[in-house]
Amino acid sequence: MLYCIEREKDIRVEKAVRFRGERSRRGIATKEMDRYSRQRLVREIGEEGQNRIRRASVLVVGLGGLGSPAALYLAAAGIGTLGLADGDRVETSNLQRQVIHRTGDEGVPKTESAKRTVASLNPDVRIRTYPHFLERGTVDAVLARYDIAVSATDTLHSKLMLSDACVRTKTPCVHAGVSGVEGQIMTYVPGSACYRCAFDFDGRSSAGIPGEATPGGTLGVTAGVAGTLQAAEALKFLCGFGSLLRNRLLLFDVSEMDFRTMKLQRRSGCSCGASGVS
Ligand SMILES: [Zn+2]
Repeated sequence: MLYCIEREKDIRVEKAVRFRGERSRRGIATKEMDRYSRQRLVREIGEEGQNRIRRASVLVVGLGGLGSPAALYLAAAGIGTLGLADGDRVETSNLQRQVIHRTGDEGVPKTESAKRTVASLNPDVRIRTYPHFLERGTVDAVLARYDIAVSATDTLHSKLMLSDACVRTKTPCVHAGVSGVEGQIMTYVPGSACYRCAFDFDGRSSAGIPGEATPGGTLGVTAGVAGTLQAAEALKFLCGFGSLLRNRLLLFDVSEMDFRTMKLQRRSGCSCGASGVS
């Protein structure tokens, strides 16, 4: 008898817990529906696209002028897992264009301040931080955990190192570079022209176009446009719509509002044409 009463109590408690769980799960689901309602209405995204975005993982390498808008828009879109990599700390002179960092973040590792901003924007995003500069010895293992990378660094060494690693690991990657009022974006997917195909080792483009952000000035919005377009490329790749900047280089100039693309070809002898980079 005692057993029966206790058992009945247990069942009541179980039911109450289950009901509360369902109610809270329903609450979470409703919130999620609300958050992405306008995005799901986009024909190219829909329910399926939103699910893909939620399951996706994107690595943003570099949390400066490009990585800031890229990471923010990817987080806002509901990317499941966001990797944030940067070995630098925030400086006052960064704040004019690196909008993921805040006044008061000076001296803080960029991964930490970026993680804070992303978490406050969208707490549902899982964040992994890499508070160091990715190097050849470790980058492959990191890339293996992601569907696509966003190359948002500002040195040729880092850009080429990441490009080679993406070719080796067959990881798609959206590259961008900005200088002053000009920017460039291209997307690598296995089989297409890689960053090395577009830019020579010395930083000059094979097409004679400045290919590397110089230590000179950068208008914040130039980086904002490029980083935002990088996020757009990543979302297009993940959801499978539109035409990627594959074998194409987008060049823009915000002073003239001139946007154009040029064709890229795989350079003969480039390691992306072989099975991989040695
Ligand atoms: Zn190549």
